[in-house]
Amino acid sequence: MAYHPDRNKDPSATEKFKQISEAYAVLSDVDKRSQYDRYGYEGIHQTYSQEDIFRGADFSGFGFEDFDDLLNNFFGFGFRNPRRAHQSRGSDLLAEMTLTLEDIYMGKPLNVEVDRYERCQACSGSGAEVGSAPITCPQCGGRGQVRIERRTGMWMSVQVVPCSRCGGRGKLIEKPCHVCRGRGIARKKQTVEITIPPGIEDGDRLRVPGLGNAGESGAPPGDLYVEIAIKKHPTFRRMGNDVLLETTVSMSQAALGHSVRVPTLAGDTVELKVPPGTQPETLLRLKGKGLPSSKSSRGDELIRVHVTVPTKMTDKQKKLLAEFENESKGGLFRLLKRTGNAPKLM
Ligand SMILES: [Zn+2]
Ligand SMILES: [Zn+2]
Repeated sequence: MAYHPDRNKDPSATEKFKQISEAYAVLSDVDKRSQYDRYGYEGIHQTYSQEDIFRGADFSGFGFEDFDDLLNNFFGFGFRNPRRAHQSRGSDLLAEMTLTLEDIYMGKPLNVEVDRYERCQACSGSGAEVGSAPITCPQCGGRGQVRIERRTGMWMSVQVVPCSRCGGRGKLIEKPCHVCRGRGIARKKQTVEITIPPGIEDGDRLRVPGLGNAGESGAPPGDLYVEIAIKKHPTFRRMGNDVLLETTVSMSQAALGHSVRVPTLAGDTVELKVPPGTQPETLLRLKGKGLPSSKSSRGDELIRVHVTVPTKMTDKQKKLLAEFENESKGGLFRLLKRTGNAPKLM
């Protein structure tokens, strides 16, 4: 728009606008485009007359409102190779994988079995029987596409569509490969190694580019997606990047303090100090023993301490506990006496 003659009265703008028009005309036409790709600006001018270059793409009479359309057309098919765009890329594949918390603790390479189409080995993906070759499609002359020209108001629109005869491939197979029946692909079970990123979440999908189904007739392959399920762990429960473990100590161990050995996701056990006076359901924390949250940091291992109260006791245990209770009252009495508020003992 900056160089449109209606807006910019500078004489050099007219020249610039002509160049832009020419670029549009060349890029929006497949034949001219390929000529330009191969032989450059000179090639275009040697092959086509000035009139031919602009044929079907003249927009010098355009108003500004037409520019959106123009740019859409420009980028819609001018910059991309239409033949490649119409070749059907292989489809994507989805595989499922069940992992344990240990698998995702460090992240590691694992194998996944996929049943996928790959390039047919007999015909190297061409689809033509060995000894024969695909022929050029007579309908589109091998371009894989046909042009539909339509005059709308003051300008001609050119639509490029895939050739119906060859399906956009530009080639026809007269003698199909006996292994793949002309499709150029064959089914094969394959083991694919994928690297599990540490700390991956249940339900996450990993994308493995290019390991989906191969495309027909040598078209590019799709991608493989691996959906991750994380198995319930017998010992640990995941809470974000922390893992939770339950442990049990006796009433007296909680009161006096204790030391227990607890397992970690790394596969070893570590000593955990239960401090004296630990209350039931206290959460203790082993820093950095959880799942990774980023490359440098990890969650924690949380240990919930359950305290058991004995239900069956020997006579001696009962006696000791009764003594303990009396001692507690006496202790309370002594404490209160020191502060000067001594109550009478019942
Ligand atoms: Zn064709
Ligand atoms: Zn084949």
